[in-house]
Amino acid sequence: MNPSILQTPIDYLKGVGPNRADLLRTELGVHTYQDLINLFPNRYIDKTRYYKINELQRNNADVQVIGKITSLKTVEQKRGKRLVATFVDDTGQMELVWFRGHKWIRESIKINQPYVIFGKTNWFNGFSMPHPEMELLEEHEKSLRTAMQPVYPSTEKLTNKGITNKVINKIMQQLFVETKARFFDTLSAELLDELKLISKSKALFNIHFPQSQELLAKAQYRLKFEELFYIQLQLISKNLTRKNKIKGFNFDQVGTLFNTFYAEHLPFKLTNAQKRVIKEIRNDLGSNAQMNRLLQGDVGSGKTIVALMSMLLAIDNGFQACLVAPTEILSQQHYNGILELVKPLNIKVKLLTGSSKSSERKEIHEALENGELQILIGTHAILEDKVLFKNLGLAIIDEQHRFGVAQRAKLWRKNNIPPHILVMTATPIPRTLAMSLYGDLDISVIDELPPGRKAIKTVHRYDSNRLKVFRFIKDEIEKGRQIYVVYPLIQESEKLDYKDLMDGYESIVREFPQPTYQISIVHGQMKPADKDYEMERFVNGDTQIMVATTVIEVGVNVPNASVMIIESAERFGLSQLHQLRGRVGRGAEQSFCILMTGHKLSNDSKTRLETMTRTNDGFEIAEVDLKLRGPGDLMGTQQSGVLNLKIADIIKDNEILKSARYYALRILKEDSSLAMEKNKIIRYTYQMLIKHKNIWNYIS
Ligand code: ADP
Ligand code: MG
Repeated sequence: MNPSILQTPIDYLKGVGPNRADLLRTELGVHTYQDLINLFPNRYIDKTRYYKINELQRNNADVQVIGKITSLKTVEQKRGKRLVATFVDDTGQMELVWFRGHKWIRESIKINQPYVIFGKTNWFNGFSMPHPEMELLEEHEKSLRTAMQPVYPSTEKLTNKGITNKVINKIMQQLFVETKARFFDTLSAELLDELKLISKSKALFNIHFPQSQELLAKAQYRLKFEELFYIQLQLISKNLTRKNKIKGFNFDQVGTLFNTFYAEHLPFKLTNAQKRVIKEIRNDLGSNAQMNRLLQGDVGSGKTIVALMSMLLAIDNGFQACLVAPTEILSQQHYNGILELVKPLNIKVKLLTGSSKSSERKEIHEALENGELQILIGTHAILEDKVLFKNLGLAIIDEQHRFGVAQRAKLWRKNNIPPHILVMTATPIPRTLAMSLYGDLDISVIDELPPGRKAIKTVHRYDSNRLKVFRFIKDEIEKGRQIYVVYPLIQESEKLDYKDLMDGYESIVREFPQPTYQISIVHGQMKPADKDYEMERFVNGDTQIMVATTVIEVGVNVPNASVMIIESAERFGLSQLHQLRGRVGRGAEQSFCILMTGHKLSNDSKTRLETMTRTNDGFEIAEVDLKLRGPGDLMGTQQSGVLNLKIADIIKDNEILKSARYYALRILKEDSSLAMEKNKIIRYTYQMLIKHKNIWNYIS
């Protein structure tokens, strides 16, 4: 078969026609034969099973029943009529109901003849089945049936316009007839052989017309593998191209600053994980290729020191470095922390944010351009085009989920040769998922917390126990600790949330009166200067309680704060809860996280609360989060199109993903341009996929 036949517009398929073609295009994105063949069923109905009426469950499932119609009547109702049949088997009776097509049904139905009916059941004082599929038992037994009947994706519009599952099934049959069901393979013989995969033709046939459970499973495996394989192939080859083609600054010196700092000024002993990650970064920076690395590390794992030491490497080699953070507070904190750390080192560090004064800005711009300024820390303000460096060698982005792709690109353009890029994130995502989302980045993980940290104790308390919680806070304050109380802030209901926050603040002020207690408040509607003032009072220990919205979520470091109270905790996502909890447990004292909720909780909320109280492990929490929300809601995934996967599921098919990645890597390592004869099919398929944009368009 000529492969170009698959590019034929769907209109040309017998039984489709212009109207149906339009609907297929707009509703399902099916434009060509190829698209149709890749329209994979969502699920399959097991038609090998026949139910007895007394076995039916009240769960609206698709069922198949054998029985007879004993009577037929029309029932008048407010809007129109319905036709009701009494259907019986030897265990009981149920009703079949039609709201349309009465005439045709009355004429064609045979009373007291055995039928096989199929459809969804309803229960209301007994079982009924609206608009069942029906077949005389006699014919049912004669007809060719596939045990597993595919159910295709559909939309309301399609159903309303008569393009039912049955119709799609018919069209699909026609497609197999016209193409003679012979499809070129899209994986090399070597892979098919080694992985014992079935051929493409056989896989496509069985995905649409499963011959058995076993063949269906093989077909699914083969197609999932193929889908993931080509995605990995693209990601990995992009990464390799970058390494070969994009020259980076070579930081071949490990110079005085780095060495002096390491030998004399480290405030603590690095953890093994920190050492390993610094080594990985050093290797990248001295490799002649541009670094594009993602550094994952749970909150409090000590990413800042890694960032600083990487920046020292840049400076040692005569380059400048910058550190971009998502908020003013966080930039300020990084600035203070790093200034403190490099004090003995004679380095020039500056802070640039939206609220930097213009005289200060001018000074910074000048010092940046003449190379005097070595480290610039700040917010998005750094990305503005007018901020020019003499020679930016390394850009570090903290808390990357607040950063868009476009912003990463802006950093690239700050030089003729793009600077090395290190992206740091505290939102752990499972490693294999990270590999497929950020396959164009190399990944380092800090999977170890600094020693001596006590695990945070997390509990769930209902609002009705608030008085006890207040008493606990008082005890902790008495011991000299500080407390966070955090309220949700969600865009849509900002006003309501603001009211909650203020009500909460007032009740806390009542319960914790001055002058014994001092309270800070920080929320999004305050001026940055006021925010900073309040924040500073808390950081300095002038206030004991910080009432805030989630603005404090990111990065803030107050080691003396030991209690995190999260109000309306059921309204937060898991990763946000985990981030907030990470604000405490930074000192030597035992820390606590108290999740406050009302009594009414959804199942998902319960799972989130249970997960939080059970574990402190960010990666475990990320796994649960992923299961609850699916990858679509995870950071950054919207842009990367994970949800466009046709058949594989990045979470459930994790093992297949690993295998696909392994083989893609192996093939590219041996044959990076896919020029070898045995990889011809792979090269051809890959080129076709890219040409027809059937593969993700990744950003790099
Ligand atoms: P994060 O990864 O969340 O950005 P930080 O870099 O802010 O974490 O570090 C959290 C706290 O742990 C800081 O107070 C920091 O000084 C401290 N810290 C980092 N690394 C170590 C270490 N190896 N030993 C002891 N304390 C450390
Ligand atoms: Mg940090």
